[in-house]
Amino acid sequence: MTADTTDTGLLARIVARDGGDAIHDPATGELIGHAPTASEADLDAAVAAAKAAQQDWAATPDAERSAALHAAADAIEAHAEELAQLLSREQGKPLNGPNARFEVGACAAWMRANADFPLEPEVVIDDGETYAEVRYRPLGVVGAIGPWNWPMMISVWQLAPSLRMGNTVVIKPSSYTPLSVLALVDVINSALPADVLIPVCGGGGIGEKLTRHPDVAKIMFTGSTATGKAIIKAASDTVKRMTMELGGNDAGIVLDDADPAAIAEDLFWGAFINTGQTCAALKRLYVPRALCREVCDALVKVAEAMPMGVGLDEDNVLGPLQNAAQRDIVAGLVDDARKSGATILTGGEYDAEAPGYFYPITLVSDIDPDNPLVVEEQFGPALPIIAYDDLDQAIEWANSLDVGLGSSVWSADRQKALDVAARLEAGTTWINKHGAVDPRMPFGGAKESGFGLEFGVAGLKEVAQPHVVTY
Ligand code: NAD
Repeated sequence: MTADTTDTGLLARIVARDGGDAIHDPATGELIGHAPTASEADLDAAVAAAKAAQQDWAATPDAERSAALHAAADAIEAHAEELAQLLSREQGKPLNGPNARFEVGACAAWMRANADFPLEPEVVIDDGETYAEVRYRPLGVVGAIGPWNWPMMISVWQLAPSLRMGNTVVIKPSSYTPLSVLALVDVINSALPADVLIPVCGGGGIGEKLTRHPDVAKIMFTGSTATGKAIIKAASDTVKRMTMELGGNDAGIVLDDADPAAIAEDLFWGAFINTGQTCAALKRLYVPRALCREVCDALVKVAEAMPMGVGLDEDNVLGPLQNAAQRDIVAGLVDDARKSGATILTGGEYDAEAPGYFYPITLVSDIDPDNPLVVEEQFGPALPIIAYDDLDQAIEWANSLDVGLGSSVWSADRQKALDVAARLEAGTTWINKHGAVDPRMPFGGAKESGFGLEFGVAGLKEVAQPHVVTY
């Protein structure tokens, strides 16, 4: 069953009429439209306009900024189905399941949460002799650069705290998914004054210019660790503030008391939400040798029951990979693992002649802990399951990489799980789930997964200049 189209002309408003990048549906190859591409002069004009608008926006009473964020959330909800359908067509994720409608819903929820976080000065000394408080001021123009996997939600993670704090934002979406972000920004802008939020589209070159721009005070970047390292260098010339949400390769450790059948579905979604194209998805699963067979069988059963296909088909809960390059990375790593003697329990083959960048859910066992499918970020629908004999060894493997975004522990005994969690090097450790985020819960990476925090009051402070006033 295919979804009805809800068309209020949003797509027609945002597409370029004279050239630009052709954007195709990754499930069918169908042309969706052309995205405008910014020149360097366009970028300069956008930053200048955002800079000019910032003082008035910062001077707007906080209650009004907060109300504007709620009004933007209302607008997102009013356009929810149209946004979800465009997101599904451009990114590939289905409407149903934890996918396009879920992502649009999260955009509204994060706007509202950021509208409501308390934004008050913090009194740090008041002992009768000394008084000191920390106030939080906006930084100026925030440059936001995002990836293609959760393009709308991650844009809101960047722009909502920035706007609430009184900054203006120039946002550069991934050139794989610009239309989703342009549509979202168009809807949000119905609730904001002019030039407070400005999109600029283009590839890495435009992104780099934004990171070097002297009138940009802060870069919020979500993307790969390699690009993050380039941005850290570029943005350091002007001592920009930076929040870096970078790559991950999340480990999960199953303990010997876990019930494979009971955890299989949560393990599945922890690994394969968005067809595995999620920074904080389960990417390597360490399982006690004695439980390995049962865990593998339970996961295969769940995996083979999940429908994958075109996103607008209401029956599907898994979509294609977003682009050919990503499918090639996953296919190459799985092929190499197979050649090295690993067992492919399900998946592992795709039809290169069929339309769309589909690649099946792939479960791999009998694999060495240092196989590239285990230690490299494959960012797709493959999960290596590694047998362990000794829990200390599993923890050492989990901590052995340069990245540390998320991790998880699976056990019937909460205290045992907490003890293992305390030993894991990651920004977040989930127990008996993986990847769930909440606007009240700070999110960020350890090691080369980045620095800085998003969400909550911590996320507001990240886009603010602390100012101590004391007497
Ligand atoms: P990417 O690094 O290739 O691109 C991200 C963005 O950076 C794009 O908009 C791109 O145009 C831009 N860019 C590229 N070169 C640039 C440069 N030199 N200067 C400025 N901007 C530049 O990442 P991707 O392939 O779009 O996304 C997948 C990656 O993102 C994965 O590694 C994933 O783990 C990571 N990710 C991390 C988080 C997190 O919260 N930590 C969330 C989602 C995705």
